[in-house]
Amino acid sequence: MDTLGLDAAALILRGDGAVSASDHERLEARATRRLGGEPVHRILGRRAFFDHEFALSPETLEPRPDTEVLVLLADEALRASRPAPVFADVGTGTGAIGVSLLALDPARICVAVDLSAGALATAIRNAGLAGTAAHFLPVAGDYLAAFAPASLDAVVSNPPYIPCAEIDGLAPEVRRFDPMLALDGGADGLDAYRRIAAESADGLRAGGDLLFEIGLGQEADVRAICAARGFVWRETRRDLAGIARALWFRRDID
Ligand code: GLN
Repeated sequence: MDTLGLDAAALILRGDGAVSASDHERLEARATRRLGGEPVHRILGRRAFFDHEFALSPETLEPRPDTEVLVLLADEALRASRPAPVFADVGTGTGAIGVSLLALDPARICVAVDLSAGALATAIRNAGLAGTAAHFLPVAGDYLAAFAPASLDAVVSNPPYIPCAEIDGLAPEVRRFDPMLALDGGADGLDAYRRIAAESADGLRAGGDLLFEIGLGQEADVRAICAARGFVWRETRRDLAGIARALWFRRDID
């Protein structure tokens, strides 16, 4: 359908009518990529997440439905924060988390951080496609280095969390086509949580919110890392598979 530029009804009406040589060539090329293991959304160049379509590039992780749980939890945290809160989306990738949170309340301001300039270019494009560009501020940077102390109302992140030793065992569609920068969480998979929790303790205002996506079985470790930085646990949200997937913490009022 996408290759021929037809919707389902048009495709059915067309029946088994002849396919032009150029359409045939494009179908063949896409089928060959799929047979080579490339995920469908990479071939299409976009994937739906929450209420919008997000363009993908080789520098961005494909947004996953699991991450919608983090968006819903972060939306609640931001609603309970001050009006027009400023939040950082750390490791924004396609911008899926930050853009979705802006679409839910356009008064918010998202500072979208990514180490990869290529990812940021895609995120900027996606913010424009969703009509949220005016409140989407891209920053090429390392974690929270760009922020002044106590300048943020919230920090939201789906960081890399796969332990090094498990990378080889990932499904080939993930291992070969998602960027390693977005997956590799260091020896125990928790490096990014340590960095972000430490830097958020500085960059968040007192009473500010910290929200993470986590991998399978990481809840206790991430809660311990955040507690050691003075964060108070508020809530754990499970995904549709029943796996603890999103955590919400609040920086202690000191
Ligand atoms: N959820 C992704 C996966 O299982 C990992 C994303 C991440 O490390 N943040 O492949």
